[in-house]
Amino acid sequence: MRLKICSAGLVYLVLAAAHGASLSASDDSRQRQRVEIGWHDDFRTDSGWFRENSDAPDHGNGTAIAFGSDGAVVSVASSNRATAWTRTTNPIWVNAFPFLEIRYSIRESGSMTQVSLLLSDDSTGPVTPGALNPENPLAGDHEALIGPLPHDRDHAVFDLRPLFPSDRVARLSLRITSGDDPSQVSLRRLAFWASDPRLPSPQATRPTSTAILLPQDDLSTSRPSQQGVWQPVQLPQRDAISAAWLASALTTSADWPAGKDIERGGILFRLGDADRAAMCSGVMEAESLDVSGQWKGCELALLLGSRMFGSGVAWYGQASSSPRVMISSPHQLAARLEYEDGSTSIHLPWSVRRKTWAVDRSPDVYIVPMDPAKNLVRFSVVDGMNYGQVFLLAASVNSSSSPAFPQVRPKAEPRRPRQVPPPVASPTQWNRAGNRFIVNNAWLRLAAEVETGLRLEQLGLVPFDREILNVKSPAPFVEVLGEDGQVLSMRFEAGNAGDTAGGARLDFRWSVAPSEHKLSLSVSVEDTGRVRIAPTLHNETAQPWKTALRIAQLRGCRISPIQGDNCYLVGTRNALLSRVPTSIRKDYSGVWPLPLVGLFAEQAKGGLGLFVIDSNLLPKVLEFKQTDSGADIAIEVHDLVVPPHGNLVLPPVTLMAHTGDWHELFNAYRAEATARMPSEDKRLEGSFYCRRDYPLGGTGYLFSPPSLRYTPEHLIAESNKAFGGIHMIDISGWAYSRATGRVGDYLSNDLGGLPELRRMVERSHADGIKVGLYFEGYLIDRRSDLAKKALPDWQSIDKTGKPRWWSGDMEFFACPGVEAWRHELAGRIAKVAHETGADAVYVDQFGLLGSGKACWSPNHGHPVPSNPILEERAMLETIREALDKQAPATAIYIEYTPVDGLMDLVDAAFDYGLWDGEAGRHPASLPLYRYVFPKLASFEMVGHGIRPVPVEVDDLHRCIFHGLGIWLKGRA
Ligand SMILES: [Zn+2]
Repeated sequence: MRLKICSAGLVYLVLAAAHGASLSASDDSRQRQRVEIGWHDDFRTDSGWFRENSDAPDHGNGTAIAFGSDGAVVSVASSNRATAWTRTTNPIWVNAFPFLEIRYSIRESGSMTQVSLLLSDDSTGPVTPGALNPENPLAGDHEALIGPLPHDRDHAVFDLRPLFPSDRVARLSLRITSGDDPSQVSLRRLAFWASDPRLPSPQATRPTSTAILLPQDDLSTSRPSQQGVWQPVQLPQRDAISAAWLASALTTSADWPAGKDIERGGILFRLGDADRAAMCSGVMEAESLDVSGQWKGCELALLLGSRMFGSGVAWYGQASSSPRVMISSPHQLAARLEYEDGSTSIHLPWSVRRKTWAVDRSPDVYIVPMDPAKNLVRFSVVDGMNYGQVFLLAASVNSSSSPAFPQVRPKAEPRRPRQVPPPVASPTQWNRAGNRFIVNNAWLRLAAEVETGLRLEQLGLVPFDREILNVKSPAPFVEVLGEDGQVLSMRFEAGNAGDTAGGARLDFRWSVAPSEHKLSLSVSVEDTGRVRIAPTLHNETAQPWKTALRIAQLRGCRISPIQGDNCYLVGTRNALLSRVPTSIRKDYSGVWPLPLVGLFAEQAKGGLGLFVIDSNLLPKVLEFKQTDSGADIAIEVHDLVVPPHGNLVLPPVTLMAHTGDWHELFNAYRAEATARMPSEDKRLEGSFYCRRDYPLGGTGYLFSPPSLRYTPEHLIAESNKAFGGIHMIDISGWAYSRATGRVGDYLSNDLGGLPELRRMVERSHADGIKVGLYFEGYLIDRRSDLAKKALPDWQSIDKTGKPRWWSGDMEFFACPGVEAWRHELAGRIAKVAHETGADAVYVDQFGLLGSGKACWSPNHGHPVPSNPILEERAMLETIREALDKQAPATAIYIEYTPVDGLMDLVDAAFDYGLWDGEAGRHPASLPLYRYVFPKLASFEMVGHGIRPVPVEVDDLHRCIFHGLGIWLKGRA
């Protein structure tokens, strides 16, 4: 009707309306893709597709893939050929994006061509025939073949929920089989959607509960409005998403106070209208949201929301699955400021609600400090995540020069505390008044009352004239515990003091109830500021005395009188080097490998350190707690047995006063801990890139199952491409036998035997690459020949008397306290090393040393329970001796970085520090042992095998900063 009027103006209006409507539809589609696509490839450029050789061996001639503006074209020039093209990706979280869209076309003269897509979560791991343990990639559901794609269509959508069993896809493989004629397949898009892209998104009908924005009252730090101080920023409208899509992304209701000025945390923001509610980055893309303008002020406030998918934690079964909840690294999200003078600064936004540098899901207020002396011309919110997206709803600038959040200002570079010169040594003085002993030298002032134990009433740092024990009723420095864990009462019997060459020595003896037991302490006070306290337990009965000793017990120790100046260092796996409140209890084991605890003051200076050098490797537990009132320390040495009419000498605890920071303790401990280390170089020192692979259940590069041949050239080629090189190939699962399992026998296998491994080693050596071979330190397959001898006699027994099995009940734990097992395993390892020429042998599960490995069998010739540290030491010694006879150059590497007392026996170990989070740990995840034992090659597990998680920038920074090697399972 309207066109009939033929008015040019009206036609123009109608066209404009039509144009507007179509823009709106495509704009809505763009917004939906922003929020609902978790991953896509449009094939315009090659983003890492390569010819897959592992299980599509018959490409034929003229097979190729070409990328262009219309997508990719895969040509199969020959008839009846199979080809496959693979792309390895960061995980695509298909539990959140389960609809796979494929846009394609198939060109051929016949219609025999088959096109399918193999999706895999890229799991690799050890294959135990017939067992369903979670690490076995052939036992779980890790892949699915999608297709074949229909010939008569060019668009297909698959709901993966009933088709694909894993929560992530990390490898896509396009499989094409040509028919009687050559064929061509065009690919224009692969995309993973949150909802079926052919249907309207269900977002409009989603039941909702809370509004997008938290109410003003929820912001606990609300402060009186600062009128005129905060100037709202006008965000660009382009590429913004609507309030409806924002609500859909955040699964909240779309209650949007459009275009309004709102106040949060005392900051004035101006919201966009409902059609342009937030700037938004893509889920898989690393992108930045850029805002340009001209501002001057001291703070930038951002109203930010985010969402993340999947998990960053290694997957060992449903129980360990832990979703991402918080952004805490500037490599995930950062605010970048650009000033007119060209200078820039990058910040992790500071949460007003949480009062820390972290960003979570709900839109909330974050602060970024600005330089008030410069003109800001641009700021960007940089999303570095391939598994999440960021929403910028509003921004505001504090245009004054006085910060509303001064705690966010960058702190001045800490002044390196001026070293206090050590005091001039003076002879140690002592005196006794009844049951009170007093000792003084240039470093320490100690006063102890001894009637019911050694109670330190005074502990002073003389160079600073400062008392550091802040207690009214001092805890005993040493306590004896009964079998039930109760503290036994002590009564003073005798004490002596006298001068020695470099100090003084005090000896004390107490009777311990019942009175046939005694504790003596020998306290050597050195003029240099060190005190060594050596306990001995005496049993004067005819029965073994089972007991435990709590030693180095200090309560309420404050080095510095200044608030926030009391710092600590604890030698845990991921060293605690901090000042924040914390409370830990750790076994002397892989989680607390270095038995040292340091207290020091950065500003007031000085400190007190303690360490234990225990050549007997006795089991012990550290308790450490830091509160505002000071630090509490205690080390409990447990499962002690004092023989009838005999003594038990315990390792000395060294206390040291100093005038520096934590380095003083570190240096003193290192000097003693490394004194007995072999001086020759470690065999794997300098190794950096290490790949673990499996002939079955691996990347497909290492081994060719049809020919039973190792193909290291493929793994080396991929490593060269991905890393620029490789130092070691670490082969697990090589001992696979369908009849007898993967662990136990080792001398024969179904995969070409030891001669094929020797060929593999020689081939790798030709490229200067080392080869390591896997052995299980604990497990034996019940079907192996060795099991006939070992089961049940060698089996480890838990505290309840139950024999231990690995999950799957096919492999049992053998106790390294059994001498015959030690000789069997060591003999087999040495024989394999000799016959294959392997550079290193891996002993799995060794080094963790926790109480979960202790054995309660009375028939193994070890105490009950066994001490896993001593039993693993005995096993490693037996292996080293056997290797020294047959293959002395072969290195030993184990799963966990062990305690200091085993370091002399291992050449390399894994670190596990990336996942060892602990409140108060050092921000750089400090692997302190690296600096105590620098010759140990230490590898960080950046890639776990089952359901891999992405390696992130922080992971690589940590490795490179600390000199940790990178150990990768699965494809690069
Ligand atoms: Zn045992």
